[in-house]
Amino acid sequence: MYTKNDLQHFVEEAKQYARYGKVADYIPALGKADPNDLSIAIYHPDGTVIDAGDVTHKATLQSISKIIALALVLMEHGEKAVFEKVGMEPTGDPFNSIAKLEETAPVKPLNPMINAGALAVTHMIRGNSTTERIDKLLTFVKSLTGNPAITYSEEVAKSEFDTAYLNRSLCYFLKQHGIITEDVEDLLDVYTKQCAIEMTCLDLARIGLVFAMDGLDPITSNRIMPLHIARICKTFMVTCGMYNASGEFAIKIGIPAKSGISGGILGAVPGRFGIGIFGPALDEKGNSITGIKLLELLSKKYSLSMF
Ligand code: GLU
Repeated sequence: MYTKNDLQHFVEEAKQYARYGKVADYIPALGKADPNDLSIAIYHPDGTVIDAGDVTHKATLQSISKIIALALVLMEHGEKAVFEKVGMEPTGDPFNSIAKLEETAPVKPLNPMINAGALAVTHMIRGNSTTERIDKLLTFVKSLTGNPAITYSEEVAKSEFDTAYLNRSLCYFLKQHGIITEDVEDLLDVYTKQCAIEMTCLDLARIGLVFAMDGLDPITSNRIMPLHIARICKTFMVTCGMYNASGEFAIKIGIPAKSGISGGILGAVPGRFGIGIFGPALDEKGNSITGIKLLELLSKKYSLSMF
């Protein structure tokens, strides 16, 4: 199989594309990222890790957190309750679009990967306070990564909270239609902290490994989530994990994956390994331009497509 040398070579090649991308800056704190950063880790079931780039570099999960929150609420509430509030269909619209929300009657966000659906999911995280709810999510992330030090970036959370005008409007729309019932500021408090959970690509790859192994952590032999929930999450990764580029990604790369506007990509090659990538230069759809290039090179060379 591939070696560290191969990965380093691919990272150098993919980095050439950083100049065609742009770092997200609608959340001001994210605008500080260096577009030329690119790191990758691949985590295998036997515990071997192959990595390249600066793997000590931490970045926030942003939309990648949506798949983790979904797994948690599916465990807490069960499929029926969750899918009463949020649908299962992909959308060709951008992640923060409000347009489709008005088109369904009764109102129901199309899927849990767009912001409207993700906000409805985060609303379902149970707890007596916003702190208890974010702590519960953090505990889950710690078990997924095997890293007890995981936390969220106060700076990025605050930066998003202070400027989340569009997400606020989505919340008010959802509240008007009874999808959420709590105070909008409370929901945004939990949601922005969830999006600001910070880790290295190595931690991210370990999460990918758990999904790849259907919810079982092969390193500790702990079952982190039931198989059927890992499958639901992986299916959403395929159908809507890469924003409105999910179809093209499935054809060109063929790996269940979830991206975030911090430039992160979580990948799960079923039964084989987990992949974590951070590369903050984004393409026009909001996916890491260097990360996608890197996955394209890897998938082609090692025939990683599941299809
Ligand atoms: N926190 C970001 C937002 O809700 C996440 C977006 C993303 O990564 O796609 O706008």
